[in-house]
Amino acid sequence: MSSQASYDVVIAGAGPAGAWALKHLPEGMSILLVDAADPLRSFRDNKLCGGMLTAQAQALLPELPLEIRAEPFKTKMEYHDVDTGVYTRFPVDYANCRRNLLDEWLLRQALEAKGGDVEYSPDTRVSGLQADEEGVLVRLDEKREVKARRFFDCTGWRQFARRALGASLTPYFHALQAECSLAQPCPHYIAVFSSKWSPFFGWYIPKNESTGEIGAAFESERRDAPDMLLEPLVRHLRRRDLKLQPGRIRGCRLTRLRKASHIWLGRGAVMACGEAAGLVSPSSGDGISYALASGKAAAQTACLPVETAVAAYRRTLKPQISELGRNIVKAWLLSDRRARRIASALLPFVHRERFERLSL
Ligand SMILES: Cc1cc2nc3c(=O)[nH]c(=O)nc-3n(C[C@H](O)[C@H](O)[C@H](O)COP(=O)(O)OP(=O)(O)OC[C@H]3O[C@@H](n4cnc5c(N)ncnc54)[C@H](O)[C@@H]3O)c2cc1C
Repeated sequence: MSSQASYDVVIAGAGPAGAWALKHLPEGMSILLVDAADPLRSFRDNKLCGGMLTAQAQALLPELPLEIRAEPFKTKMEYHDVDTGVYTRFPVDYANCRRNLLDEWLLRQALEAKGGDVEYSPDTRVSGLQADEEGVLVRLDEKREVKARRFFDCTGWRQFARRALGASLTPYFHALQAECSLAQPCPHYIAVFSSKWSPFFGWYIPKNESTGEIGAAFESERRDAPDMLLEPLVRHLRRRDLKLQPGRIRGCRLTRLRKASHIWLGRGAVMACGEAAGLVSPSSGDGISYALASGKAAAQTACLPVETAVAAYRRTLKPQISELGRNIVKAWLLSDRRARRIASALLPFVHRERFERLSL
């Protein structure tokens, strides 16, 4: 790469948003895709994620290869409300996957689709950004610069472009997750709500017969020891007869969308996609479907004039933005124990004969 190479599009971040933006860019564009790490190489590391794909995410993807599927692929959900003592189980339309392998698969597909149009540069961090009517000047690893007509920020919770351009950041949770070993299999996705313990919820997600993931999200300023923070969840799950042993606990930010204005889709030649745009469901933490949908939508605006691109991008994402608006209300209801009591009473009517009440 020369010090002032020039591209039609530079994409920062090769997660689901970046890969899907790349895959859907029009043919013949010159593209540079950079990632601070390398999703192709880090496939052995477990990315901090539950790996649950919503129906929307599944609809945006080709059929998942067997090696990417986690077991059981389709789970039921157990809803445990510790505050109100309501414990239930019902079917959900999530698909269970191995997140690190999913990212690798998405990126390989996108690189193959674009062939010679794309230059992929792993282990390369975007470190500066200047944008004007002419386009964008992108600084890489603090030492070289490239020019681009368009810049797609797909850097996830790091929200690189917002920081560089002085836009306000989306608030976030402090999320923790740990792989755990199981003495006996538990095939259900368990969501545990307890107002005293987490403003979000805690989860257990099976990955095969002998391992699963547990995790939870907390206020961003909580910095208690991770094992202390997860201890009430572990205790609760063990009481449910889940004989689990947590491994290393890891933490990262989880975008916490509290109002629609926290979504930032970009400005001029700069588009933000996926979590960098704030597109994560505040009620469930699902972000993969929004990353895929927004990456694709941003790519479809690449040939439009700069002045109209962000508005066109917003129009394409209207269904997702409306859904997130509804999820902001849902998240507020779920965080309120009285509202949850009412919602719990309605669950049998929503899920009808597929609904099971549990006694713990
Ligand atoms: C604990 C936890 C559990 C979750 N569980 C689920 C779940 O079950 N289902 C679901 O749908 N979602 C889940 N999410 C949310 C989901 O993981 C994210 O919303 C999703 O990964 C967003 O995709 P993305 O492509 O926008 O960003 P990311 O997947 O975060 O990818 C960003 C990429 O950008 C790169 N990068 C960062 N900074 C730079 C830089 N300066 N220069 C170059 N590259 C850079 C990173 O290396 C990374 O590869 C969870 C999140 C957390 C934290």
